[in-house]
Amino acid sequence: MKKQIAILSGDGIGPEVMAQALRVLEWTCDKESISLECIPAYIGGAAYERYEHHFPQETQKICASADAILLGSVGGPIDKAHLPKWKNCEANALLALRKTFSFNINLRPAKIYKVLRDISPLKSTVLGENVEILIVRELMGDVYFGEHYQGIKNNQRYASDLAEYNESQIAAVAHQAFQAALSRSKKVTSVDKANVLATSKLWREVVTEIATHYPEVALQHMLVDNCAMQLILNPRQFDVILTSNLFGDILSDAASVIPGSLGLMPSASINEAGFGLYEPAGGSAPDLADKNIANPIAQILSTAMMLRYSFHREDAAERIENAILKTLEEGYRTRDIAKEGDVVLGTKEFTDKIIENL
Ligand code: NAD
Repeated sequence: MKKQIAILSGDGIGPEVMAQALRVLEWTCDKESISLECIPAYIGGAAYERYEHHFPQETQKICASADAILLGSVGGPIDKAHLPKWKNCEANALLALRKTFSFNINLRPAKIYKVLRDISPLKSTVLGENVEILIVRELMGDVYFGEHYQGIKNNQRYASDLAEYNESQIAAVAHQAFQAALSRSKKVTSVDKANVLATSKLWREVVTEIATHYPEVALQHMLVDNCAMQLILNPRQFDVILTSNLFGDILSDAASVIPGSLGLMPSASINEAGFGLYEPAGGSAPDLADKNIANPIAQILSTAMMLRYSFHREDAAERIENAILKTLEEGYRTRDIAKEGDVVLGTKEFTDKIIENL
């Protein structure tokens, strides 16, 4: 039976990079005998224009009946954020989407391509031969979902945010991290603040227990302050980083700059039923929209993640990843990842080269 994908292109560069990603997906499915049906739906400012809603019912229905969601990005130019079309667009669209489907695990790979080492803000000597980190972040617990209070206490302005975790929440994300490590370098670094926080002490206890189910995978615990330093000093030491919601939010953004452009960074969010949302880690880049200059790699890699995690087609995902690698090795670049003397191609033309290499 055909698998259905909800295609939410969104705003800014979303529709352009999505169109290119779908070309790559179509070619790949053709070669790998995968049968997919793409069902487009509106989200963000594009949805607001039609429905006066950033995540309309129609879109929710299409997502709910799909086997996976492929998202572009949402949001408008920062200086137009006050207009109804853009006001709270990201929160209304993305937070609602994540909440509707209870995505509890976020996966963010950060791969530094050898041929792109020069565009990383880190020195080549720090990067060495290969840096390929996967950050696995818990998404439904921690300080974001506990009670928030802001008021007056003891005649002073006062605020508190409650951080909470239970063992099942931690176990679910830990299993995902160990399973991912099995097909990589078999190393998990679990990041917490167990020298201070009760939630981190529980985190460390549960992760250590889950690790016994995966004897082939080496587990290391690291305090979050040290991890922030180590990501910059020696990112090569990491394979899978497993962490809680707040620490993951910060560390994944830090890791996302190491490859050199947000245009290279895909991500996935998965719920307990295995249903997944796949999207670039960056935003809608309104500065680049409609100019055929955005980098389509993040969106294309998001489709590869979809094939891997939702449809268990590692072979098809690797076909796409290898085609991107070959295109970069041949010297082709989009503007954001180019140095002087490089062959710079437009979004579509760069994708043509990827398709030639599929
Ligand atoms: P942004 O990620 O859109 O852009 C940050 C920088 O990265 C810009 O210089 C941009 O040109 C560059 N960039 C991003 N993607 C690129 C690509 N594919 N190719 C080349 N360069 C790329 O972040 P921002 O400028 O802070 O936000 C712009 C809009 O995006 C805002 O409305 C914001 O709310 C929204 N946003 C949406 C998401 C999402 O949909 N998941 C995430 C973050 C921001």
